[in-house]
Amino acid sequence: MKGRILVIEDEVKIARFLELEFKYEGYSVEVSHDGREGYEKAASSNADLIVLDLMLPGLSGIEVCRRIRRQSDVPIIMLTAKDDVTDKVMGLDSGADDYVTKPFAIEELLARIRVALKRKDRGILNDKNMLKSGKLILFKDEYRITFDGKEISLSKKEFELLKYLMENKGIVLSREKILDRVWGYDYYGDTNVTDVYIRYLRSKIDQQFKSQFIHTVRGVGYIFKDEE
Ligand code: CA
Repeated sequence: MKGRILVIEDEVKIARFLELEFKYEGYSVEVSHDGREGYEKAASSNADLIVLDLMLPGLSGIEVCRRIRRQSDVPIIMLTAKDDVTDKVMGLDSGADDYVTKPFAIEELLARIRVALKRKDRGILNDKNMLKSGKLILFKDEYRITFDGKEISLSKKEFELLKYLMENKGIVLSREKILDRVWGYDYYGDTNVTDVYIRYLRSKIDQQFKSQFIHTVRGVGYIFKDEE
């Protein structure tokens, strides 16, 4: 599978056409015909890219785009109905990565999707400022964490521990390893300190938001995973 695309487009015919074309290209596709529902899908699903129509019932494309941007850096390609400069500017201002004017050639849209996804992949490798797992975003430079756009207040050590866990998503980390990396080799205090701080993180994130990112691997240590 090449990636997941969420199509938010109220014109059923166009939405259906896009769905078939994207599936043919090997993407998995989810469709919404309404702005509000589309936004909710964008917030809850793990789409790799969103194709977003500008004129939508429920919430306008601009508003959907703004709301998604508050919590996610997923690439958004806007479909603008007219060849109108203000529409494009508004679309880009609201956080869209690119736009395609209707009527569009499907090849052009597919090409822009490939570019946006490539940029995104590079972004994950190069974007030194952001770690993401579903609704949880860690901004490295700013020492800031948000869940679903809400700020989580962490101490410096809690932040560093979470950062280390997220950087090693899907990898089991032993207590010793965590201790070395987060507290440093010269730490001679109680090794239980990792358990204590994991407990802090769990109460501030997993318990608070009813999520499950941090898992215990009995007898070994801990692992950070995307939510199922
Ligand atoms: Ca429309």
